[in-house]
Amino acid sequence: MAFTLPELGYAYTALEPHIDARTMEIHHTKHHNGYTTKLNAAIEGTALASNTIEEILKGLDMNNSAVRNNGGGFFNHCLFWETMNPDDRGRLSGALLDAVNSAFGSKDAFVDKFSAAAKTRFGSGWAWLCAHADGSVEVCSSPNQDNPLMPGVGCGGTPILGLDVWEHAYYLNYQNRRPDYVAAFFNVINWNVVEKKYEAIVS
Ligand code: MN
Repeated sequence: MAFTLPELGYAYTALEPHIDARTMEIHHTKHHNGYTTKLNAAIEGTALASNTIEEILKGLDMNNSAVRNNGGGFFNHCLFWETMNPDDRGRLSGALLDAVNSAFGSKDAFVDKFSAAAKTRFGSGWAWLCAHADGSVEVCSSPNQDNPLMPGVGCGGTPILGLDVWEHAYYLNYQNRRPDYVAAFFNVINWNVVEKKYEAIVS
């Protein structure tokens, strides 16, 4: 079954002023749509066509660049939109806060580490907060559209929060000021969604 570009579930304007509507519209309708279309073309008629996106990424042949780039791009952007949903964003709390405190010492220390991962990723890529089945969390980053579900990428956990640091994600509004975009991201995270993802992995 072919993959479908998901609806955002909110307006392109909903994340302003942190992420502008024009960037959101182009990012969703052009970039994410492109990854989706090319992923479908790459798996059509192959054994992968009946798999979930998670199965495809976990079992990925890293030499299959079409599935690696477009499968990663499809999954990464789905997670990105979902975890910025402006409805009932909540705050970092509960078991996930405990895991963050255990791993980093404090929420502020987590923010520093995640921000550093995002800012120091050279060129295009992503910063991640990942969870492991034992309840621990880690920050890592990956190049291009790779993510830690793929063999040998990043910390090997399951991403529950990701920040796109490709220039297409911020250049219209922030130009070369990636650190400002990274700082703004913390205003639009939906912690209720992130916490649900965490609980699904550890339970
Ligand atoms: Mn992107």
